Amino acid sequence: MKYKSTRSSVTVNAMEALLHGLAMDGGLYVPETFPQEVLVHKEWQGLSYEEIATCVLSYFFSEIDKDTLGAMIHKAYGNGRFAAAEVVPFHSLDTDLTVAELFHGPTLAFKDLALSLFPHLLVAAKERTNEKKDILILTATSGDTGKAALEAFKDIDGISIIVFYPHDGVSPMQALQMQTQTGNNVHVLGLQGNFDEAQAFVKEVFTDSQVREKIAQRGYIFSSANSINIGRLLPQIVYYVWTYAQLIERGCITQGEAFNVVVPTGNFGNILAAYMAKRMGIPIHTLLCASNENHILTDFLQMGIYNEKRPFYKTTSPSMDIVRSSNLERFLYYVMGEDTTHMIRWQEQIQNNKQATVPTKVLQQIQKEMLGGYASDEIILESIRQVYDRDGYLLDPHTAVGYAVYQKYKRNHLLPSRHTVLMATAHPYKFPLTVHQALGLANTTDPFTALLQLQDMTGIAIPRALHELSHKKRRFMSAVSSSQLESAVLEAADFMKKRSDMHE
Ligand SMILES: *Cc1c(COP(=O)(O)O)cnc(C)c1O
Repeated sequence: MKYKSTRSSVTVNAMEALLHGLAMDGGLYVPETFPQEVLVHKEWQGLSYEEIATCVLSYFFSEIDKDTLGAMIHKAYGNGRFAAAEVVPFHSLDTDLTVAELFHGPTLAFKDLALSLFPHLLVAAKERTNEKKDILILTATSGDTGKAALEAFKDIDGISIIVFYPHDGVSPMQALQMQTQTGNNVHVLGLQGNFDEAQAFVKEVFTDSQVREKIAQRGYIFSSANSINIGRLLPQIVYYVWTYAQLIERGCITQGEAFNVVVPTGNFGNILAAYMAKRMGIPIHTLLCASNENHILTDFLQMGIYNEKRPFYKTTSPSMDIVRSSNLERFLYYVMGEDTTHMIRWQEQIQNNKQATVPTKVLQQIQKEMLGGYASDEIILESIRQVYDRDGYLLDPHTAVGYAVYQKYKRNHLLPSRHTVLMATAHPYKFPLTVHQALGLANTTDPFTALLQLQDMTGIAIPRALHELSHKKRRFMSAVSSSQLESAVLEAADFMKKRSDMHE
């Protein structure tokens, strides 16, 4: 399978795309074609998550033979790394609403699904491209990617990782998870700024030849673990194929029957994977893109105007506090007819005016695929409480955004009446203070107190990954400004190099 940039005719193979992350022209890599025969030739029923993953991903990473790929997939999802044997289990909330629980991985967020596999793909890419330098992963996080990436890459030979997170923009649990990270090849930096600034910095150094040169002198090449990398994006397609198979198995739909998907959205990676699954023939009817108070995507999907001139809100669903959604570029590339000149113009408009508009025809095309809505913090709390009171089921604040938007659409008869799947992106206990407040428990500012009270009330056991945080040593406490970032990166690179040399 070949991959091409959204901004030029540059084409690379999967291994190069994995290694580089971003195309040199600043565009994102997309697969040249989507495998169609997957669905024609394959009977999905009865296959395990790992088997479906091997089948789907062997099309996208055709340079890796199927047995090797299968072994990587087993390392990623097998051996008890995921708390649920099915990897992604399901919960029926209603006769026409199923929740897909994407949060049973080691760090309790859906990011684990792609990031558990990604390091193995990257190691393969390094070998197959004969790259002798070590890889330095730079990753911006709005909260969950960081921990999932750190956990996935820790102590992997030949790779080091630096994670940037908005210092005051993540939940206390998220911050602790990252600050206490173990491993010799990891580094974490708090950034005085928001996610968009962290992400912009990463994109900048990627295409800055001077920084790349400095990093090369230290024996590294850059790569990224953000959802701009195809190694992050494509493994996410798997759970949509799995969802389709399981909906049939559970009697929610029949073979070939279309269903809707609701996705709590930030950087647009998860929902883009759903769109790609649809391009492969998975019968997804309508995609519902759910945002929080930072609802640039809702506005765009409703009016066709992407306007970045807007306030940035810190909400109770921090992993969705994003204004510039990177992966939207990939979606637009497809709905604009895979025309790179449109994409370059779009990008220039955003660069120059912080705003861009799609033609009415394109907007109509977009609205055939995707609808958008948003929910305020208040509605989120109400949704968590309502679902718990009625169904005894606990939503995390991000999933609650999806639920609230779904309800609004359903109430107003704006969603085609189909079976709907809500993608649950985080474990509710990752955000104990918000969930605690939603259930009306006595006020506390200590996340561990909140966890214990939640456990008492709901009977849902505290996952060990959270429990152990209360007594783990905090290793990474520093916060830097964006002007200090470059030197902080170089310093961290030197430090990790020294440590890894010592261990050789
Ligand atoms: C990252 C994240 C999201 C947003 O996903 P995107 O792929 O960036 O759109 C939603 N919920 C949670 C819990 C997340 O960690």
